[in-house]
Amino acid sequence: MKHELMELPYDKNSLEPFMSQETLEFHYGKHHNAYVTTLNTLIESTEFEDKTLEEIITSSEGKIFNNAAQIWNHNLFWNTLRVNDGSKPEWKLAEMIGSSFGSFEDMKEKFKAESLGRFGSGWVWLVQKDDRLEIYSTPNAENPLTEWGTALLGCDVWEHSYYIDTRNDRGQYIENFWNIVDWDVVAGRII
Ligand code: MN
Repeated sequence: MKHELMELPYDKNSLEPFMSQETLEFHYGKHHNAYVTTLNTLIESTEFEDKTLEEIITSSEGKIFNNAAQIWNHNLFWNTLRVNDGSKPEWKLAEMIGSSFGSFEDMKEKFKAESLGRFGSGWVWLVQKDDRLEIYSTPNAENPLTEWGTALLGCDVWEHSYYIDTRNDRGQYIENFWNIVDWDVVAGRII
């Protein structure tokens, strides 16, 4: 089974000014695309050839795991982005954020601290387990499929996510990120 680069659900300039078209051209068009083409090459004529992305992620290691997990991570990432005009989590998601972290502001603070605390490349995740939400970060390509919880939101903190727009400033990238989280999509992932 050939894996394909997902279609973005919006134009490459539609996250501006918080994430530039140039970032999407590189991050989606080059980095994400490279994970897809590399995975297809790596799995050819192997036991992974006919497996789904999720099956590969939960049964592989090394390069195959890294490329498969990065495809899954980026699919989630792009699908949860949209300029949100300051909208905030509502209903069940808002309640769960309140009971798990105190407030939306407390949640954002913890998320930013996790992202700044992640040394090198990785991801920061908002995950759900039962009625609880948790924030944690993972190195490199690792994700909640092999950790725990249902990923509601994942933020890419590899340098390739922000070096065009905010240079070395990961904190500013996270501040921009809050303007482009589609909380309806995030809430829709609650199980
Ligand atoms: Mn990335």
